[in-house]
Amino acid sequence: MYELKVVSFFSAAHSLREYQGKCEAMHGHNWKVEVAVRRQDLDKAGLALDFKELKYMLNSVIDNLDHKDLGQIDFFKKHNPSSENIAYFIYNELKMPLENKGCALKKVTVWEQRDYCASYYEKDS
Ligand SMILES: [Zn+2]
Repeated sequence: MYELKVVSFFSAAHSLREYQGKCEAMHGHNWKVEVAVRRQDLDKAGLALDFKELKYMLNSVIDNLDHKDLGQIDFFKKHNPSSENIAYFIYNELKMPLENKGCALKKVTVWEQRDYCASYYEKDS
């Protein structure tokens, strides 16, 4: 198997519901998002997927989050805008488009600061 990773960034505000502590109050992060993709075979050019294409796909998803108050986005009205749920959101947005390109989405990891990150992945991906 081959595995590719790309990283991208976005800035947004959030506040956590059902949480006691500083993160209850509105504040911002510069989130870092890493996407890992797997593929069994390479194309004629020796690529699993063009990095630029993967980055474009990731950026199209995170453009919907960039410079937003995450709590105002429908998905995060239902799911608290934690890093865990941001990873879940991005995973679900990217899964099908990547499968259509013959790739399996392995994992999405979201850092809310340098030393804290959360990942979402599915059991057999
Ligand atoms: Zn926060």
